[in-house]
Amino acid sequence: MNDRSAVVKNTWVRIFSVLWHAVLSDARLHDQPPPVKIAFSDRLSSKRGARIRPFVLEVSTQFALDLHNELGSVQDALAGLAFSTPSLRRAHRGKVLAAIEELTIGFVLLHELFHLIGGHLDWYDARRANGLKVDGQQLCLQLTSSKRHGGQGAPTYRSTADAYLLECEADCSAIQWIVQAMPQSKLRRLLQTQAASMTSFPQPQRLAAFRLLLASVWLVIRRLESGKEKLVRNSSETHPLPVTRVFAGFGTLIREYSCISDLRYDAQGGGQRTLTNSDVISMREFLERVLKPVLTSDWNPGSPHLPAESLEAQMRFYLHDFGNHMLNRPVQTIAGHELLRMERARFRMDRGLRPFRYYQAVELKRMKAARKQVG
Ligand SMILES: [Zn+2]
Repeated sequence: MNDRSAVVKNTWVRIFSVLWHAVLSDARLHDQPPPVKIAFSDRLSSKRGARIRPFVLEVSTQFALDLHNELGSVQDALAGLAFSTPSLRRAHRGKVLAAIEELTIGFVLLHELFHLIGGHLDWYDARRANGLKVDGQQLCLQLTSSKRHGGQGAPTYRSTADAYLLECEADCSAIQWIVQAMPQSKLRRLLQTQAASMTSFPQPQRLAAFRLLLASVWLVIRRLESGKEKLVRNSSETHPLPVTRVFAGFGTLIREYSCISDLRYDAQGGGQRTLTNSDVISMREFLERVLKPVLTSDWNPGSPHLPAESLEAQMRFYLHDFGNHMLNRPVQTIAGHELLRMERARFRMDRGLRPFRYYQAVELKRMKAARKQVG
C-alpha cells in the first residue's frame, strides 16, 4: 500500500466512524441495526463503487482513489461554487477540497448504510427466501443482461425499476440525512459557521453548502452511472435513465433547501406539493442559484467542449422538465415521466419495505418540525 492510498483509506475510515456512530445515536432509529465494519477491496470494480453486506461495508480501493483524483482535478470548479473571487478561491482551495471530500465520501457511505437501515438487504433476503426472482443482485445495481438470467429472458422494466428504485431511495435518504444530521466539521470550518446542521446555516453560507453538497452528489452519481450510459440509451424499455436518478437526488435537495414539508401523495403515490408563494420563490432560488451554477461548472477540464454524450449534457437538456416536475407543472419529456413513475413506485414499495426498516423512510421525517427558513 503506497502512501497516497493509505491517506485516502484513512480518510474513509475516519469519516465512516463518525457517521456510523452518529447514525446509531440518531433518535429516529427505532431498531438497533447489526454492526457494520468498513473494508477495502482490490477486487471490487471501481465502477461498482461500494457495496454493503452483513456485516461489512466494502469499498473499492480503486474507486476511492479515482474519486480522490477526480476531486483534485475539478478543484477550481469546486472552489468557484463557494467563493466568488479568484483570490478567495485560491486561498481556500485546500479547505474546499477537504469539505467536499467529507461530503462525497459521506454520501457514498450513507447510501450504503441506508441500504441496510432502510431495510433493503432484509427485503431482498425475504424475497429470495420466498423464491422470488430478484434483480440487481446484492444491491448497487449492475445492469442485468439476458445472459445472466440464464436464458429466462431479459428482466422486465418493473423488476429492474424496483432495484433501481432502491438505489434512488438510498441516495435520497443519504442526502436528507447529510442535510439534517451529519456533523459537518470541515464544511463548518470552511464556511465559518457554528450552526449544527446545514438546514440552520445562515445565508450566504447555506447557499454555498447546498452547492457543494449538490456537486458531491452529482460527481458520485455521474461516476457510477456514466459507465451505464451507452447501454441504457439502447435499452430504455428495461432500465430507467441515469438522468432520472440524478434528478431524484436533486429533488430531495430542493425540498430540503426550501423546507417543503407538506408533501402529500395521491392515490398512486405521486408526490403533490402544496406550494405557497415563498415555497415557489425558494425553489426558484434553488434552481437558479444552486443547481444552475453546479450544472454549468466545468466538470471536464481536459476537454474544450461539453461532451455531447455526457450525463451533464443530458442534465442540461432535461433541466427544464425537472423544474416543471418540482413546481407541479405538467412534464414534457421521458425523464419527467420517469420521475413521476419513480415517485409512485417508491411509495408502493415503501409498504413492502416497512417491516424491514430500522429507520423510517420514504421521506425521513425531520427531527423536529424544521423551522421554515427562506432567504
Ligand atoms: Zn446502492
